[in-house]
Amino acid sequence: MTSAVPEERTLAYLAGISVDRVKDIGTVRMRDLAEAGISSVADLLLNVPLRYLDRSRLVDIATAPIGEEVSVAGVVESFSKRRISRGRTIVQATLSDGTARVRAVWFNPYIKLTKGEEVVFSGKVETFKSSLQMKSPDVDRLSAHEGLRTGRVVPVYGRLGGIRSGAVRAAMANAVRRSMPISDVLPEDILDRFDLVDRSFAISSMHFPESFHDVASAKRRLIFDEFLRIQMALKVRAYEEYDSQVGVPNSVKGELYHRFIDSLPYQLTNAQARVLDGILDDMEAQTPMHRLLQGEVGSGKTVVVISALLTSVESGHQGAVMAPTEVLATQHYLGTAMALEDAGMAPPVHDGAGAGTVSLFAGETLATRPVRIGLFTGSRVTANFVSTDVSRAQGIEWLSDGTIDIAFGTQALIQGDVAFHSLGIAVVDEQHRFGVEQRVVMRDKNQGEGVPDLLLMTATPIPRTLAMTLYGDLKVSVIDELPPGRTAIATVALPDAADATIDRRIQETVAAGRQVFVVCPLVEDSDKIEARSVTSEFARVRASLPDIRSALLHGQMRADEKAGVMHRFRAGEIDVLIATTVVEVGIDVPNATLMVIRTADRFGLSQLHQLRGRVGRGEHPGSCLVSADPSTPDGERRIEAMVASTDGFELSEIDLEIRGQGTVFGGAQSGAADLRLGDILRDHELLDAASTVATEAVEEDPESAFVTGVMHEVEMLLGDSAEWLTRS
Ligand code: ADP
Ligand code: MG
Repeated sequence: MTSAVPEERTLAYLAGISVDRVKDIGTVRMRDLAEAGISSVADLLLNVPLRYLDRSRLVDIATAPIGEEVSVAGVVESFSKRRISRGRTIVQATLSDGTARVRAVWFNPYIKLTKGEEVVFSGKVETFKSSLQMKSPDVDRLSAHEGLRTGRVVPVYGRLGGIRSGAVRAAMANAVRRSMPISDVLPEDILDRFDLVDRSFAISSMHFPESFHDVASAKRRLIFDEFLRIQMALKVRAYEEYDSQVGVPNSVKGELYHRFIDSLPYQLTNAQARVLDGILDDMEAQTPMHRLLQGEVGSGKTVVVISALLTSVESGHQGAVMAPTEVLATQHYLGTAMALEDAGMAPPVHDGAGAGTVSLFAGETLATRPVRIGLFTGSRVTANFVSTDVSRAQGIEWLSDGTIDIAFGTQALIQGDVAFHSLGIAVVDEQHRFGVEQRVVMRDKNQGEGVPDLLLMTATPIPRTLAMTLYGDLKVSVIDELPPGRTAIATVALPDAADATIDRRIQETVAAGRQVFVVCPLVEDSDKIEARSVTSEFARVRASLPDIRSALLHGQMRADEKAGVMHRFRAGEIDVLIATTVVEVGIDVPNATLMVIRTADRFGLSQLHQLRGRVGRGEHPGSCLVSADPSTPDGERRIEAMVASTDGFELSEIDLEIRGQGTVFGGAQSGAADLRLGDILRDHELLDAASTVATEAVEEDPESAFVTGVMHEVEMLLGDSAEWLTRS
């Protein structure tokens, strides 16, 4: 900050200035601050107060209103600390301000005061045995030179790496004074449009406000900035990765998908038709598609996805579908193969019984030849045009010479030596389990021209605000309507010991010709975790209902075993499937009508909802039994919410509330840790505004001073943690 030619003081610039350039911050304090994650002047300025002391609420002890939140200032007259029992320490102090005395009590051994010290206690004053007392008041020290003479609203900081609030305040005063004015990254018209204060005012008022009204305006602006950085990074990435690229030319004649849709025994819902139109428009466009397809479980995403895949195939390209697990990939493959078979567009799916080989002729047209699809699992490849499995090497050859039209698999599909002849569209199911890296790899696997269209799909409803933050670089389509005739799944909570009731319900369901899922959190019983396991539940159900055909399914089984069990369950040869959460997504067995979830409080709310979505998918209404003895308030709330609502979006908001936004970003996406002040639920209106501003700015000119200014901030302030936002 002392350079001869003063550089423009932007926040990005201040992010490059070491915090020890601030007066009062030397080497020792710098180390302390580094521990608290503060290394630059910008970091320090963005470290906002924990709370504020309202001097106007400072009262004399003698006249303090009883039972109200107040602050009292005075001198510590006595201080004592006493252990009253194992692990419990009582700390007491008396404070006098000349008008009276108040006794303060804490059960916190870390409170430390010194006799003669000047402090402020904030909290409620009560009467106790005819004297005045405060229970666990907040303590603030005002350093001597600040006294109580400064502004009405005094900021209180948390201890920063061992530095006390008073010292932080002093350093902050220096930092604010030396940094002002900070030039604003936001143009004036945007400030006006969204009623935002300018940056210098926001930062100085956050720390040294004239009033609480100023604090609120400052906070609003700083929250907007946090959202804007993330949104801008996402929109810029979308521009670089998609909107500035040339896509694979998919021409939508539509014969193939019309043939498919016309063969369905039902009409598409309006929502399905609308969403499909949007996807087809994207596929025809010059630039590659980048779209997220969201829809409640059972809303009918599969037909939409198959239509998109067929469109690419008809245009002379291939499709790839990736799922997070082999069970799910298998399920997608089987579902698609059977749907194509029903539509007369492919031969019967071979189930190991040998369905006859389909021969390949050069020069066949799509009107006469089947749509050829293949499933890649482990070292084997199953395909609908050959009667026996082939090696992975053979499968890979079929991908690169274009024999396979649509490939299904897990991430293994894009690993190693795989290359597609011409990949037109990649569909990624349950995107939140895939990283950004896979998206990039996926694109690199294409030998054909152009960047393939990308369609991410998720059955996990995400609150809109969260989708904007996690997937802000994607366009979003929502199938917001269920096929007609679906009834809400009746959900009942039971104690975890209610085996008899559960078995009776299983028996009734099976007697009516329907099928049942029983889901448990564990594979095997555990000494450490008090929860049901599929292994013991399977044994129990076998013993208690010997006439019922039950089977076990969990992730530790071999892939072909799993596929075999799934196939038999689908075919109705198994009545009760006792499984772990491998059945959470994608499993479509319309004849299954009862979902039993054991020790259900061990599952997350969206997981529970997904599981429940496995039933009630056909003509028969579904029901769900959740058995649990919740041992935590959160567990209890989840079970209550499950019983109270069947709306996935509502449940996902409740889930977000219970878990807090910090946890949902996890892992590589911790770039969102920049959300120190902002809360995507509470501040959704500012998030919307930031998203609009970023979208418009990048559309208008991705290289404008405004966009580059914000991106410079992203880089300087978020650094490595922003990699998920900025990589291209
Ligand atoms: P999702 O993948 O969104 O959970 P699916 O695509 O698997 O849902 O569809 C769920 C069930 O609803 C399937 O059995 C499917 O055949 C059926 N289905 C899909 N669309 C419709 C529709 N428009 N009308 C009636 N049934 C439908
Ligand atoms: Mg599906």
